[in-house]
Parts: sequence; C-alpha cells; structure tokens
Amino acid sequence: MKFNNTFDFAFSLDNKDELKYYRNRFYIPQTNTGKDVIYFAGNSLGLQPKTVREYIEQELLDWEKMGVEGHNHAKYPWLPYHEFLTEQTAALTGALPEEVINMNSLTVNLHLMMISFYRPTVNKNKILIEANAFPSDHYALQSQIKFHGYDPKECLIEMKPLNGEQVIRTENILQKINEDGDKIALIMFSGVNYYSGQAFDMEKITKAGHTKGCMVGFDLAHAAGNLKLKLNKWGCDFAVWCSYKYLNGGPGAIAGAFVHKKHLLDMTIPKFWGWWGQDKATRFLMDHDFRPIPTAESWQLSNPPILQLAALRASLDIFHSAGIDKLRLKSEMLTGFMEYLINENNDGNIEIITPPNKYERGCQLSLRAKKDGKALHKKLNNSGVICDWREPDVIRCAPVPLYNTFTDVWNFVKLLYSK
Ligand SMILES: *Cc1c(COP(=O)(O)O)cnc(C)c1O
Repeated sequence: MKFNNTFDFAFSLDNKDELKYYRNRFYIPQTNTGKDVIYFAGNSLGLQPKTVREYIEQELLDWEKMGVEGHNHAKYPWLPYHEFLTEQTAALTGALPEEVINMNSLTVNLHLMMISFYRPTVNKNKILIEANAFPSDHYALQSQIKFHGYDPKECLIEMKPLNGEQVIRTENILQKINEDGDKIALIMFSGVNYYSGQAFDMEKITKAGHTKGCMVGFDLAHAAGNLKLKLNKWGCDFAVWCSYKYLNGGPGAIAGAFVHKKHLLDMTIPKFWGWWGQDKATRFLMDHDFRPIPTAESWQLSNPPILQLAALRASLDIFHSAGIDKLRLKSEMLTGFMEYLINENNDGNIEIITPPNKYERGCQLSLRAKKDGKALHKKLNNSGVICDWREPDVIRCAPVPLYNTFTDVWNFVKLLYSK
C-alpha cells in the first residue's frame, strides 16, 4: 500500500479498519490529563481486556458457592479448565490441539523442554543461540549445560550479526548450522528477537537443524499473538512462550508450550513427571504408576492456576474473534506506516534497526537514537507515550493491531520529531 504523510490519511486508515472496534474491548491507560496514552508496550505487557474481570469473577463466584465441588461443578469445571483454552491456543500457534499446553511460566517451560530435548553427548553437546537473546534464556541454557556436566563457555555457540550489521542474516544462520551442526545438540532461537525485533525464519532453521540431527526449539515470547505461526508444519521439536506480552494474559500470566506430534508417544524422552500429566481416566485412583497423557499435557506437573487461565481465556476469545490472519494484515500496515513516517520525517538521529522486510519482523520497530536517546524516551513518556527504553540506545515501539490505531502511529512520530 502507498502511504501518505498526513494526519487525514492516518485518520482515513482508522476509519476503514475493520478491526477498529477491538480497541473498545481493552482498557487504555490514561495520561494525568485524562487522555488515552499512546500505548506501544504491548510487547512488554499487553493491555487488559475488559472481559477479564467477568471471566475471573465467574471462578471466584463458583469457588465462593461450591468450594471443592467447583472442580466438577463450576460453570467451567476446574478439572478440565485448561482444556477450554487448547483449541484457540493451537489455532494461534499453527499447532494441533494435542501439541499445546498452557502451564507454568516461560523460563520454567524452557527448562522442562530442555530436560526432554537437550540431550548432550560427548561429541554432540553444543547449543546454538543468538548472542543477544533474552538474558533469562541465556541463564537457562547455561545452567542446563552445567547440569549435564559440561562447560557453558565451550558448549554455547552465540551467533552475532556481521560486523556493522544489526540483525543476523538467515543465510549465515544456515551456514553455521551446516558447518557446526554435527556438534550441536540443540538449536534454540527466539521467534522474534526481543531487542532488534528481527523475526527469524523458523521453517528454514528447523530444516537445516534437522538435516544435521539437531533438536530445534523456539522461544516465542515475542512471536505468540504477533506472527502467524505454523509450528506443526515447520516441524520444530518444541516451543515455549509467555502470555503477558502480545497475548494480553496479564502480569505473570500462565505461559504456553508446544511439543511436536512426532514426540508425543515417544516414551524414551526424559521428562519430569507430575500428577497433572497422568492419564485422566485413572488419575484419581492415586496409584503410583505414571501413565502419561498422550499429548503435550503430559509435561504438565501441577493442577493449574484457574484465575490465571480465566484471564488468558478472556484474551484468547478476543484473538479468536478477530482472527490472527486479519490481525497480522493490520499489524503489517501499522508497522509499515510507522516505518514510512519515520523515514519521511527523519532528521538523521534515528536509525530503525528492525529489518525492513515484513517477513523478518512483527509489530515491533526498534529505534536506535544516535544521540540523546534517553532524553528522547523521557520526552515521549512525558508526552503520553508508553514505549520502552533498552540500554544502551534503543527505544522499542510495538503498535499492536488489537488496540493501536493509525492515528496513534501518526501522533507518535509527530512527537518523536517535535522540538
Ligand atoms: C519476556 C521474555 C522472557 C521472560 O521470562 P519469564 O520466564 O516469563 O519471566 C524470557 N525470554 C524471552 C525471549 C522473553 O522475551
């Protein structure tokens, strides 16, 4: 689409936007003068759907009225409650229902998946990761390497962009896998890098890894609810994500995990067990033989937090109603419009480090300020913009298709360049 550098154009895009009413389904934080903020931090903490309260209140009410009997008799019984989220989670991630489970939190799920899928041997013990992956992922990987008796300094291969470049070229990732794959036990990339906003070609990385006999997993913290994922088709071995970013599940929301179908019936895979992974028909016989559910649910250890699941269910219902295909189309337009306006107005201080190719990014643009970045972020913040500052010099902005508007983007860029 050809964009115009005018407010009227932004306004007309909002008018034509068939998803525009979804904004009304969210609480938009207010400035102290009572105006909607420009909220570009949905990649950090998504906004609250107005329906969350009623979904949680239903569970509070059933708990109040029924106590323990709510497990079976609540309006949405708690014993199978997580199952009410399965189909929508699968649809959102391009998975089969049996391949996904909402449980725990992201780093916990990463550890659980690595127990199953990082199985180093003397000659094949390395993990390939992007050098600037999220710190928690680095900690998890280092500690898993040590747990197996190896040295993170030797076993962690960290990929950096080429000198002078901001993002890692796909061809270089594939080349690295081809060169070192024989020694790599696990390839663990993010779907979208949290800092640069680069979306990786998960299908190609998976293929290259499997050719070399590596396990391939993805951290989808910044990809779930953002990109159109096709996890089953891409064939990656596992994936994990959190639900408080684009998925709007609330602070500390219950996280998600994917295990590819090909692994679900493999009883040789090491796995930590708990009673919520136990066969449902006989779980309450309370015997001591573990008969895993033949789905990703068998990685579930404990009975899950129903109030958290209720909040996430409220949000998934909204995603389902809008549809990820339409959301992604609007997202490409919003981000493209922001990129266009920044380039049109640029005074040379701002460099967009996120790739310009729409297939290599999601909602987010990461803006590197050559000078006075922190002051610029502060100015934006004082003017009613919520976006995020990352040391040393990057402002991350995520125009989210569920609740951001083209006029948000216009107003933001105007403020960005205001004196
Ligand atoms: C947000 C994020 C996390 C956060 O981890 P939690 O376990 O949810 O606290 C981890 N990894 C990545 C890549 C993230 O973007």
